[in-house]
Amino acid sequence: MLKEPESMDECVYFTNRIVGEKGSIKCWVLRNKCPKCGKGLMEKPRDPKTGNFKIRSEEYVCPECGYTVNKDEYAETLIASIKYVCPKCNYSGEIEVPFKRKSVSRLNEETGKRESVKALPFECAKCKNKMLVTQKMK
Ligand SMILES: [Zn+2]
Ligand SMILES: [Zn+2]
Repeated sequence: MLKEPESMDECVYFTNRIVGEKGSIKCWVLRNKCPKCGKGLMEKPRDPKTGNFKIRSEEYVCPECGYTVNKDEYAETLIASIKYVCPKCNYSGEIEVPFKRKSVSRLNEETGKRESVKALPFECAKCKNKMLVTQKMK
């Protein structure tokens, strides 16, 4: 069983959505420990005046030792946990995949055209239906 986060503060990313008529995808990525000191949880730098996270920062920083890493480099080390109900076969499963977005082509249901999106692709363990987790990292 995958461990679900207790609060949003533990997550780099969280999404919970309905897919089709009966499917659903819940995906979250827990924050990583600092690769240098192994104590702090990497987070966005805080504004020294307000104490709030600088959401748009391109870097993550360790609050314990100050180790700083680029956002993309940090994302490479993360693991996404996914719980899903497959919209095709109704199978409910869970999977862990590297949190690496790929450019995938999909049909935009509103326009009817194919478009390229950045997404985290994964397959249903039972019917191999391909599902996508799209959305930006916060
Ligand atoms: Zn550290
Ligand atoms: Zn399936």
